[in-house]
Amino acid sequence: MENIRIQDDLYMYVNGETIENLVIPEDKPYAGGFADLADGVEKIMMDEFASMSESKSYPNVYLQRACELYALAKDADRKEKHGIAPALKNLSIINEINSTEDFSRLYKTLSQKGIPTPINIGIETDMKNTKRHLVYIQGAGVILPDSSYYKPEMAEQKAQLLGIWAQVAKAVMAKTDLSPEDQDKYISDALAFDEIIGSLAKTSEEWANYIEMYNPMATSETAGMLTTIDFPAILSDLFGNVPETVIVTEPRYFGGFATLFNAENLGLYKSWAYVTGLLRACNYLSEELRELGGAYHRAITGVEKMQSIEKFAYNLASGTYSDPVGIYYGEKYFGEEAKKDITEIVYQIIATYKERIKTNEILGEETREKAILKLSTMGVKMGYPDKVRAIYEKLVFNPEDSLFDVMLSLNAIREAEMLSKLDKPTEPENWQMPGHMVDACYDPFVNDITFPAAILQAPFYSLKQTRSENLGGIGGVIGHEISHAFDSNGAKCDENGNINDWWTEDDFKRFEAKVNAMIEQFDGIELPWGKVNGAFIVSENMADNGGMSVTLDIMKNTEGASYEEYFTNWARVWCEKARPEFLKMILAVDVHGPAPLRANMPPRNFPEWYETFGVTEADQMYIAPEKRIVIW
Ligand SMILES: [Zn+2]
Repeated sequence: MENIRIQDDLYMYVNGETIENLVIPEDKPYAGGFADLADGVEKIMMDEFASMSESKSYPNVYLQRACELYALAKDADRKEKHGIAPALKNLSIINEINSTEDFSRLYKTLSQKGIPTPINIGIETDMKNTKRHLVYIQGAGVILPDSSYYKPEMAEQKAQLLGIWAQVAKAVMAKTDLSPEDQDKYISDALAFDEIIGSLAKTSEEWANYIEMYNPMATSETAGMLTTIDFPAILSDLFGNVPETVIVTEPRYFGGFATLFNAENLGLYKSWAYVTGLLRACNYLSEELRELGGAYHRAITGVEKMQSIEKFAYNLASGTYSDPVGIYYGEKYFGEEAKKDITEIVYQIIATYKERIKTNEILGEETREKAILKLSTMGVKMGYPDKVRAIYEKLVFNPEDSLFDVMLSLNAIREAEMLSKLDKPTEPENWQMPGHMVDACYDPFVNDITFPAAILQAPFYSLKQTRSENLGGIGGVIGHEISHAFDSNGAKCDENGNINDWWTEDDFKRFEAKVNAMIEQFDGIELPWGKVNGAFIVSENMADNGGMSVTLDIMKNTEGASYEEYFTNWARVWCEKARPEFLKMILAVDVHGPAPLRANMPPRNFPEWYETFGVTEADQMYIAPEKRIVIW
């Protein structure tokens, strides 16, 4: 862009012109980098779904079911005929709850019917023994994007958003057979119940420390906190017996559970369950209700228009049958040659990390060995899985049912499958992300990284890009994900993914000093849409820093390396134009920093940045050598 110097603003220098010309699609909160790739995949796969459906020729039975669901979801007339009735019929069970005892007795049914409850019971990997499962309990979420909106400093935003929510709820409730007075009462009750949830529920910032979720308690002890429900009886209904141990993910919430859910508040709960349950159902009802019910989410994200019925139908079907859809996408659109090349880069990055760990100043000798062991045993999932999970055999539905009932029955199958896992071993071979998703992750409880085929495209990665560009793009992301093995959470999990503190106290102290420096580097940065919370996003910033440090190391030994290409592509992948409402919300709920900072902050910690572009004290993207942070 004219008059922007790379030394002052790498992000805008590289992306300014693109951003100026970018048009955010009416039905999306943002455009650019990740979003453009996701839109591209969506378009390709929508065409695939349309042509499969038209020719009635499917590559396998799963894609056939996906296309049948797609057809149901895009049949506006049929949905119109069913109207709101299927949701109201499902919600009618709430009328049967006349005491807290009724609630306990009906819990299993409520959960199968997807009726919101103040306690959610699920099965997850035991974080201390990742080969087995345990029962986890979690509280309800709030109507606002995050419970931090209930903090006094967010009062204005809270009032504004809840006002919109109440309007949306009113418009949907008007379609029920309740009197206008009852509609208003239900809505104000729901808001009152939500306010109590908001005072107890964890914030996104608290959830980001996921080791703190692990609070094992004897079931009897947990039952002692949950005095207003018959917790053992509920567990017995769900599992056929009462498991001995429960993981309480939100101690504050469950400590205060009896003040939230009790005989006195039962009416508030019922209204809350009804209104939020009905709003949740709108997506699967008539087009008119999908439009009405989606208005709150659109307001939060600034999106102008709801998705077309075709797009909605495709996203519902591809989300429901994500394994098979991802495999189909991967096999067809991601080549073996690319898989081989990219896997080579991954192992090169792992090997480089190992070398760097050997001389790392944070870790003592003993801890270094363990860190290297963690890298040696790290699993690598690139592209898409070999086979679909067994659950997909069971995801069968009756196409004569309404879309709402179909989704309900599929969710009940999933729920039953999840609950049945309690006494079964975990399956670390399962993928966290399907092949058609533009994203990547590190799983601390498996100790592996996943890179779906959909992210392995330009500008992140291409066989046509130079090695320098690929290192600045996907290389940085791979290095980022791997470094999560050593972030504040990863440092507490060993090579088998078990919570197991393998760091010495001194190591951890030195690490904390780096964490604090990184918090300081970001904290309080003013953006046009708000202020950055350095502590909330520190793990992701440490990961970006690690990703850059390891790939710059590889650049040193790369023939024909171009640092200009490297840094330019690093900035290019973060290109984003987003709606202000969305940006504001993301500051409160996303552990990742805003895109411009992810592009512009890491480079200034490394000498290569200064050498390549002659950056000096006079430039915006300069920081003094003593403030520069290198972690891994
Ligand atoms: Zn990350």
